[in-house]
Amino acid sequence: MVDGAVGGEKVHLVHYPMRGGELFNLVAVFHSSRYEEGWDSYGDPAELHERFAKTCAPVRTLLEKIESWRMWVLCDRPPIRNWSRGRLTLLGDAAHPMLQYLAQGACMAIEDAVCLANKVEALRGDFAAAFQAYQEARYLRTGRVQIMARVYGEFYHASGVARELRNMMLGGRTPEQAFESMQWLYGEDEGPTGYGSALKGG
Ligand SMILES: Cc1cc2nc3c(=O)[nH]c(=O)nc-3n(C[C@H](O)[C@H](O)[C@H](O)COP(=O)(O)OP(=O)(O)OC[C@H]3O[C@@H](n4cnc5c(N)ncnc54)[C@H](O)[C@@H]3O)c2cc1C
Repeated sequence: MVDGAVGGEKVHLVHYPMRGGELFNLVAVFHSSRYEEGWDSYGDPAELHERFAKTCAPVRTLLEKIESWRMWVLCDRPPIRNWSRGRLTLLGDAAHPMLQYLAQGACMAIEDAVCLANKVEALRGDFAAAFQAYQEARYLRTGRVQIMARVYGEFYHASGVARELRNMMLGGRTPEQAFESMQWLYGEDEGPTGYGSALKGG
């Protein structure tokens, strides 16, 4: 298998090819007591192997192939509805930081940019009004992604009763039902949290 994801209690691993197969990205997520802010830290391989010690052999073999790991501490914040003041506004992580479990942080930043440009154009350079309109169009959708990313993270890493419930609720779904459950994120939904309405100008 070239790309995919595997999960367990407090851990999961995602792997996929990049640059047409030139690079192979491994993203190992686990709960840690270490906290180091910044974008240029390296993880401790000993801790990584300890956290993944109970996973199946193919996962451990894959992890052994990497000697040095970049590390990011994952952060989010509950959604807010106001991130503009006068002629100042925010977009992307500054406005709505989210966990990566739906792989949407950069996607939301790009959607923000399209929406913002549409509003500025529609309101003919009245930046304060455009920033309010942009924020109004975006906060429910980005808030939903922030909240749902937390839910998916809890489900992926669940143990005990939560794990049983996850397996019961999600295990029996057909691929069609799984896609259907993501319609609000990827579909043409025109509602306040849908893809369609979030990008509209005017
Ligand atoms: C492990 C991991 C996996 C992820 N996977 C995905 C994924 O699969 N899909 C997805 O869509 N998103 C993913 N994301 C999220 C994505 O990386 C972020 O949401 C996205 O980079 C946010 O873009 P941004 O422009 O808002 O902020 P940033 O990318 O953080 O850009 C902000 C920039 O501002 C600079 N800066 C900060 N302070 C100053 C200053 N005072 N002066 C000048 N410059 C400054 C920073 O150096 C940085 O370059 C992932 C994140 C992580 C950590």
